[in-house]
Amino acid sequence: MRKFSRQFFPLLLSVLLAACVAPSAKKTSSVPLATKADSPLIEAPKTEEPSLPEPPSQAPKADQSSQENAKKTVRVLLTDSQTSTEIKHSGRVYIYTQDLSKKYKISTAGTLAVKALENGRVQVGTLQTNQPIILEPAKDTLFTWDKNLYAGKFFIIPATHTFYIVEHVDLENYLYGVLPYEMSYSWPLEALKAQAVAARTYTLKTIENVKNKSFDLYSDVRSQMYKGGGKQYDSVKQAVDATRSQVLTYDGNLFYTYYHGNCGGGTDDVRSWNPTASTIKPLSGASCSTDSHSKSYSWKMNISTAKVMEYAKTVGLKGNLKGLFIAKKTGTGRATNLTIRSSSGIKQVPCGKFRLATGIRSCKITKISVLGQTVHFEGKGYGHGIGMCQDGANGMAKNKKDYKQILKHYYPGSKITEIN
Ligand SMILES: [Zn+2]
Repeated sequence: MRKFSRQFFPLLLSVLLAACVAPSAKKTSSVPLATKADSPLIEAPKTEEPSLPEPPSQAPKADQSSQENAKKTVRVLLTDSQTSTEIKHSGRVYIYTQDLSKKYKISTAGTLAVKALENGRVQVGTLQTNQPIILEPAKDTLFTWDKNLYAGKFFIIPATHTFYIVEHVDLENYLYGVLPYEMSYSWPLEALKAQAVAARTYTLKTIENVKNKSFDLYSDVRSQMYKGGGKQYDSVKQAVDATRSQVLTYDGNLFYTYYHGNCGGGTDDVRSWNPTASTIKPLSGASCSTDSHSKSYSWKMNISTAKVMEYAKTVGLKGNLKGLFIAKKTGTGRATNLTIRSSSGIKQVPCGKFRLATGIRSCKITKISVLGQTVHFEGKGYGHGIGMCQDGANGMAKNKKDYKQILKHYYPGSKITEIN
């Protein structure tokens, strides 16, 4: 019964909405949209449930039906603080305000101009409103925005003097747009499959804890890189489809399946990166002997003392840089804390924050020398070093390991679970 209700309620709701609010064609055509396509139109979308959904209140459970997983929608923030942009559509698109008081259909390909107005209003074509405007593509229609292709619905959400765009997209389609930007599509299939499971799990875990009412994930490194699921690489599609519904769990729960470019010969406990995180076995570190083929494995770089002091100022130091040292490191050699000494004093700082502020490739630092106005670093790996090492996964796949072996290696103690 519970399954029945979940499955059929949205359909029932959309039928009721259509019955209650679908106005006549004449009525809805009173504000034609200006588009480069020739097409004022006129028909209510038939299957839309229009409100911005609240974040899920419960974790996806391992007993959810595969049908529910297949319908899982991810809300991705594509951009914020926009004042104007253009969105191309390759075919038919439905356009409506959140309260469904205005609805249009454009039947042919074209371009929609979007701009922010005063007082929290937004304009799409000639439609002006203070409500979110939803652009729903018909089947086979894709949007092009910022040179990337998208298959989901676009929510244009007005803010005070700007607007933001959130795409509501099917989870699996979202993954088509994540994988090629988190791992090369030319890598072995088993590495791509491991990445698909890790990214799917990370996505669902993030949705469990989402705080923003309008979106679940960013489309950049704050969540996962994402550039639209409209362009589908064969290898990526194969990896995502072959692992459909598969996630990693530990002790029956999803967990944050962190991953990174190169661990430099061994991954670390999550607390080395985030001291307040509670660790679990899959995030406690793993050996890695398959990542040394990569140019990220060892590195040398110089940054200016000014750059170091720019960060040092944020922790209360002033003056000139006098010294930079590793204060604490893990058993694999990854610095957890650095000591910065300036002419005004001395401070210990988390290396993770220092890395993000200065752009050093990892905290697995093997050498630091302050030479005049330059600080010379040598080190190993790329990224935070927690969870799956992507170069190592590539190396394991080349050594004929399958994606399950790769995932079990980098997330020890985890289990691949079907969400159905
Ligand atoms: Zn590695």
